[in-house]
Order: sequence, then structure tokens, then C-alpha cells
Amino acid sequence: MSLPVQKNDRITVHIEDLTHDGAGVAKVNGYPLFIVGALPGEMAEVHVLKTLKSYGFAKLIEVIKPSEHRVAPPCHVFDQCGGCQVQHLSYEGQLLWKQQMVKNAMTRIGKLPDVPVLPVKGMDNPWRYRNKSQIPFGLQDGRVVGGFYQTRSHEIADTDICIIQTEEADDILRELKKELGNLGIMPYDEKSHQGMLRHVVVRKGRATGEIMVVLITKKKKFKEKDEAVAAIKRILPQVTSIVQNVNEEKTNVIFGDKTITLWGKDVIEDLIGDVRFEISARSFYQVNPEQTEVLYQQALDYAQLTGGETVIDAYCGIGTISLFLAKQAKQVLGVEIVPQAIEDAKRNAEINGFTNTYFEAGPAEVVIPNWYKEGKTADVLVVDPPRKGCDEALLQTILEQKPKRVVYVSCNPGTLARDLRILEDGGYVTQEVQPVDMFPQTTHCEAVAWLELKK
Ligand code: SAH
Repeated sequence: MSLPVQKNDRITVHIEDLTHDGAGVAKVNGYPLFIVGALPGEMAEVHVLKTLKSYGFAKLIEVIKPSEHRVAPPCHVFDQCGGCQVQHLSYEGQLLWKQQMVKNAMTRIGKLPDVPVLPVKGMDNPWRYRNKSQIPFGLQDGRVVGGFYQTRSHEIADTDICIIQTEEADDILRELKKELGNLGIMPYDEKSHQGMLRHVVVRKGRATGEIMVVLITKKKKFKEKDEAVAAIKRILPQVTSIVQNVNEEKTNVIFGDKTITLWGKDVIEDLIGDVRFEISARSFYQVNPEQTEVLYQQALDYAQLTGGETVIDAYCGIGTISLFLAKQAKQVLGVEIVPQAIEDAKRNAEINGFTNTYFEAGPAEVVIPNWYKEGKTADVLVVDPPRKGCDEALLQTILEQKPKRVVYVSCNPGTLARDLRILEDGGYVTQEVQPVDMFPQTTHCEAVAWLELKK
């Protein structure tokens, strides 16, 4: 069967959609063509690069009719770096597109065309929002480089500035790169497994201003340690914590197991709303705390707590949502698969003085049915699963135990819609979905759904 387009064809197409990677999608007699750089609503001339059985790729030659939301991407490495995908779409355009993405998932995957999907809650200033930067350093032609990995590769795109991360991370990136030679510190080379400095991680508490710099080294013994600490203090006099993490493995995993405080405190603190969190070099913490507060407030609003409820927070991480809810609930039970995160959750509950929280490590789909067997029941159940969505067994437990309200926090509209369908078939009604933009300039989209058990 012949395809509607052939390799090397030059054709004019209408762009209908954007993929998760930020590529435009055109359909030629139903055959999808992916075109990097093209935006929905545009007419473009493209050159077909490659055709597979059910889809193909084309190169953007000329935008004939631009999208009303097309803008010049402000970052000069936008084309190479894998971090952002939609800087060429205005922020207003990004929010409209994300709302449409959630609506499409509800209609096509969830078969829920009538569920209200509200306009996305975005940021007033959608730049400089990331509170954690992981900067790889390396050598290219004998020169120290640092910056970001290129799209789908481990080649470093050398740059001095990243406008979605903090100014402090830029300062470290730019100045440390200049100083490494003088300090005699060799950046690590992935191919030869030679050199010392692998990554530098910069974390900042948005509300407290505290800053941690983590040097990830190949060896624990690191003779330029004192000079490195002095250099960091010179570059960032406001730093509160300088930490070394040792990763001796031949791996592209950033952190190793051993962490040593070189100077200052072991942790930084931050606040989400009025809840305080301690963050260590490796602890999980949301990267956009300003929008995290918006997301959790939405979850709290949908939970409609009056003070008498028991709430289960499944996939609770370090207990961020749990502690937000604990202010207004009788009791919150949190479960999370990573034991270290549960340790952090307990510690965070303690430093905030909560006595109505209980945390347990384990798979939610195993721990929650056990809780029900032990008589620990919930009025409201909150879930915040990873991208693959809720475990089937957990959904079955919800359908058997029937908490009156479910609040579903999701980072993937596709699996959210799939899981909502299952809950709807089992007796729940989705009242509303509120998307929240946690990652401006990228294609990621978070959403909170509110479900009620049918009377
Ligand atoms: N609610 C937290 C974390 C959400 S991310 C926050 O807002 O910060 C999803 C979490 O689910 C991760 O911490 C991951 O470790 C955890 N997880 C993944 N599979 C799990 C499972 N089967 N049971 C419990 N937790 C799981």
C-alpha cells in the first residue's frame, strides 16, 4: 500500500497538534507527520525526511501562515537543549494548548466529553521558576564546558544562562566554569571515566532564600576541596550549605550514595504555604514551589475538609500534600514506596508540630487494602501517582471501599483520563478538572480532578 507522502516530498501542510516532545503534527490524508518547530494552527511548507508505516517526520522549511501565538524563543540554546519544548509558543498560547490537551484526553481516552476542564492556572512570571538545577560539567576540545544535555543525548550544550532556573544557578554555572582550571579541578569525562567533577547541583528555598550547592565528584578524596569551597563562597556569598556527593560509578545517574557536608548546614529549608520542609542534597522536592502551592491548594479545596475527616494520601512522597491537608483534617494517612521519602515525611510532620499524621512505606496498592482491613478507613482519598497513573489494584480498592470523595492529582492527562473512566464505571462522577501549570515552557501538564461517589 503506498503512503500519501514519500521521502523528499515538499508539501504544504496544516499543523493540528503538538506532541509531548513539542513537535507539530500535520495529517496528510490521515497520515501523521511530525515537524519540529511547527505550531498548531500554522500552514507550513515542509520537506519529508522519513516515512514509516503509520507516521513520518518532516523538516520545517517555511512557516507560510504563522500561529497568532508564535513568538521568538528568548533562550539562545532552545533548539539544542532538551529542557524546554515550547518557548516558541507564547505563554498564553501554552496555557490554551495545555487546557486543550487535558480536554482531548478527557474526550478521547476517558470518554468524558462533558467534564468541565477549567482554564489552566498559570504563573504571572513563567521564567526562573526552577528551584533545583543539575548542571553537568565536561571537557570539549580541551575546554571546560558546562550547561545542559542536548535533546536525547549526553553531549553538553555549553551555555552560561538558563532562564527557567535561578540566577544563583547561573552565577555558579558561569563563574565556576571559569575557575575550574585555576583550581586544578578536572571535569569528569563520561567516555573515559576520567576527571573529578561530574555535576553541580544548586537548590534554593524560594521562601527562605537558603541555597545549597552540591559538588558531585568521582572520588571521595578530593584534594582541591578547600579551594572549591572558597570559590563557591566567593561566587555566592549568600550560600548556606556546601555539600559533596560521591558517585564512583560509570553511569548517567547523577547522584551517588555518599553525601558529606563540606561547609554550613546539612539541609536547606523552604515553605509551601505555611508548612516548612527540610531539603537535603538528594531529597525529592517539587521544583516549582510557587505553583506547587497553587496545586495543593486546589487539592485542598476539592477535598472540602471540615476538620472531622480521615484522609488517605496515596503516593505521598515527602508528605507535602499530606501536611497541607493535615491542617484541616482529623487525621491524614500517607503512603509512599520510597522509604527515605517516608523518613522525610515523618521528619517534616514533626518539625511542623503535626500529631495527626501517620506515614507508612510500601506500595499504595498493598498498604491501603491492609489499612482498610485494620479498620483504618478514609472519608476522602487523595492520589498523586507517577506518570503511569494509579495501579489497577488501587483503583479496585477505591471501588470496593467507596470513600465519598476522591481527589486525583495527575502529571499525565492521558493516564488521568484512563483512570477516571475506571472510577466512573465503578460509581464515581467526575465533577471538575483544574489544570495547573507547574512547568512553563515545557509540554508537561498537571491537573487536579474532583470526583464524588454517586448517591
Ligand atoms: N505527592 C508527592 C509526590 C508525588 S510523585 C508530592 O506532591 O510531592 C509520585 C510518588 O509516587 C513518588 O514519590 C514515587 O516514589 C511514588 N510511587 C510510585 N509508585 C508507587 C506505589 N506503587 N505506591 C506508592 N508510591 C509510589
